Amino acid sequence: VATGRRWVFLFREGNAQLRDLLGGKGANLAEMTRIGLPVPPGFTVSTRACVAYLQGGRRMPEGLWEEVLEGLRDIEQQIGRRFGDPVQPLLVSVRSGAKFSMPGMMDTILNVGLTDETVLGLAAMTANERFAYDCYRRLIQMFGKVVLDIPSERFEDALDELKRELGVIHDYEIPAEHLQRLVQAYKEIVQQATGTPFPQDPFEQLRRAILAVFESWNNRRAIDYRNAHGIPHDLGTAANVQAMVFGNLGPDSATGVAFTRNPSTGEKGIFGEYLTNAQGEDVVAGIRTPQPIQEMAKDPLLRGAYEQLLDVADRLERHYRDMQDLEFTVERGKLWMLQTRTGKRTGRAAVKIAVDMVHEGLIDPREAVLRVSPDHLDQLLHPMLDPSWKGEPLAKGLPASPGAASGKVVFDADEAKVLGDRGEAVILVRLETSPDDFHGMLAARGILTARGGMTSHAAVVARGIGKPAVVGCSALVVDYERQEFRVGDVVVRRGDVITIDGSTGAVLLGEVPTIPPSVGGDLAELLDWADQFRRLRVRANADTPEDAAKARELGAEGIGLCRTEHMFFQGDRIWAMREMIMATTPEERRAALAKLEPMQREDFVGIFKAMAGFPVTIRTLDPPLHEFLPKHEEEIQAMAERLGVSPEAIRAKVQALTEANPMLGHRGCRLGITAPEITEMQARAIFTAALQCAAEGIEVHPEIMVPLVSDVRELMVQREIIDRVARQLFAEAGREIPYSIGTMIEVPRAALTASEIAREAEFFSFGTNDLTQMTYGISRDDAGRFLPYYLEHGIYPADPFQTLDRAGVGRLIEIARDGGRATRPAIKLGICGEHGGDPASIRFCHEVGLDYVSASPYRVPIARLAAAQAAL
Ligand code: PEP
Ligand code: MG
Repeated sequence: VATGRRWVFLFREGNAQLRDLLGGKGANLAEMTRIGLPVPPGFTVSTRACVAYLQGGRRMPEGLWEEVLEGLRDIEQQIGRRFGDPVQPLLVSVRSGAKFSMPGMMDTILNVGLTDETVLGLAAMTANERFAYDCYRRLIQMFGKVVLDIPSERFEDALDELKRELGVIHDYEIPAEHLQRLVQAYKEIVQQATGTPFPQDPFEQLRRAILAVFESWNNRRAIDYRNAHGIPHDLGTAANVQAMVFGNLGPDSATGVAFTRNPSTGEKGIFGEYLTNAQGEDVVAGIRTPQPIQEMAKDPLLRGAYEQLLDVADRLERHYRDMQDLEFTVERGKLWMLQTRTGKRTGRAAVKIAVDMVHEGLIDPREAVLRVSPDHLDQLLHPMLDPSWKGEPLAKGLPASPGAASGKVVFDADEAKVLGDRGEAVILVRLETSPDDFHGMLAARGILTARGGMTSHAAVVARGIGKPAVVGCSALVVDYERQEFRVGDVVVRRGDVITIDGSTGAVLLGEVPTIPPSVGGDLAELLDWADQFRRLRVRANADTPEDAAKARELGAEGIGLCRTEHMFFQGDRIWAMREMIMATTPEERRAALAKLEPMQREDFVGIFKAMAGFPVTIRTLDPPLHEFLPKHEEEIQAMAERLGVSPEAIRAKVQALTEANPMLGHRGCRLGITAPEITEMQARAIFTAALQCAAEGIEVHPEIMVPLVSDVRELMVQREIIDRVARQLFAEAGREIPYSIGTMIEVPRAALTASEIAREAEFFSFGTNDLTQMTYGISRDDAGRFLPYYLEHGIYPADPFQTLDRAGVGRLIEIARDGGRATRPAIKLGICGEHGGDPASIRFCHEVGLDYVSASPYRVPIARLAAAQAAL
């Protein structure tokens, strides 16, 4: 259609493509009309009119009213009744409908056109006085609230008082004469609140209702909703004016909502509810319990409409080629469609519907891949709170690692381990976690911390091991001494059961039911399709043979980051590590390292085997050494006994290793440079493991990665050690293994001098956790103190530790890419920070031409999907 400079469009003139102009609801009403479905006639006052009104000093734009009247005449002709007619009155609804659905954010007014005069006509025409006055009182209440700004409670109080007086519970039990009295009372409320009577001119009602819908675009709720969902503020809403049809005319009338497939399981077949003898809002208001839609088939008065509904649902699904969410009314046995839109669905349903629709020939695999959102997959890969559970959370923190978990509260990692090993469900609650807590985190069902951000230790580790976690829950006052935490007046003690929801950040008291993850054949099929479309390779961050095997199972094509230090925290290894740290001479250090080497070699063998044929990037030691030492006096005593050193020596060492800014301190390659024995040992463990695997016929591709490089000379020094160890071992074994050496880019200076660094590096892996920390100058472990405030107040659009900051960090990545390629055109580029598992960041990685992303094993399927979507 030529949309010209018109303000108003009849339903039969529009179509689904005109969402910008007609809003989602208007465009779909037009589309349903166009394909011949039973839609009550009507027209859409366009978003263009709304914008003109809001920007034009809140005056109705020239010519709009005339077009509205024309539209109204068209409805009158089709229905055969006239608006304002005292004998056969036409009534209309006025509903908002923006381009993007904003459920419940804006306003609707039903039964427009009823007055003291027309209500008599409606009563006579329907032979139902009760019905007519019920419609009238609903109009006054909705008009009062939406147009006149009178609080709903004033009307509701009057209604409740009447019901009390009559001794009835339900609205529909109020007899006609009392509804008439209620209308009187409502009109008095309007008079009192506004100083003017309820308008008795139907045209004035209509005009003011349309303008009120326009105004509702700028109500507080709507603005907040748009802010939260990134919807622009200048789009405006349309107003749909439509002939009323009535589901409250008797037992042969009904109103309902339906999905064309089950929105929680994706099962094919209509799914929904209806109420007989009711008007629209009654279904949602919960006054009466609606019946399952299939029951309609058993009701002789509604069976015909039901069969027609099945047919309409089928046609709409084939027409839109997606699951639809429908609203309908049955008026005296006749079906009327009031709305259709794409139905919201769970992750499980999204995957099933997309795959089923490919099999049904409705969509192609490309479309199926685009239909499922990464958040949908996220839901699927973790247990989640039973959506039917209704209750209030005790507190909210950051949703650090998705999934829900319940268990007894424990405050200590060792206790979590003891209980967890016994098969008890525990939630480890800490102020924050450190590598010392790892075993407890592994044994716990979930992790809750009071401090820390989305890349704090607790968050990173939890995502890595696929455990639900809520972090930075600042309302939590953790008291280790008393073994309890408090939120306001609520005290939760050790052993009390709580539930955390790592998908939303909610902390709940007691055990809340969860539903388990389902990774079925549908998901595998969908991901196979995704793999055909993506260009980015997807690797996993994995530190153990078990994680590596899991990652392979989930589709990882190699390891992008093996944090070797994580191996040192397991079991008895920490003692060898501590011995190494306490060493006072290189000889002592070598002796301690010699104990670590076989353990490390064994792990590498396991990882290489799990990743046979795929590249494995192993990073040399990274964290500051103090992380391996005890913090509390009892632990110091225990360590002194075990290692046969004095507690003073340990305290002195702890003292010596204490730094003001450990994240900027003696860590990363600075460790391997000042203590070359460490790098030497690690290189030996890697190459002996690789040689052993190769001897067994396993294809290995080790990539050795040096962390925290800021100057090419650092890499030169480390490279020299690694190459020397390789030459020696290869010579001894009489076999060469192809390997490469590269570096992480996690310091801005490394990005800026990438062309120099690339002389020594065969690959760059962007460590965007540190790169973000150092680019912003924000400690990743302390950001929880103010970052939530920044996000809430819109100072940052997103948490930069979660979604890669394109303008700053992203710019550095581009500079490093260009510098790296200038020196070494074939340099391999990847990312292994937490952003490697974040869909928006993966899109960026695709756009700037990285070779791969690396994510926690449980995010690998999400990364596969996101990488495909970025390429489509
Ligand atoms: C990084 O800094 O992005 C990274 C992957 O290393 P880590 O998180 O271990 O510091
Ligand atoms: Mg790092």
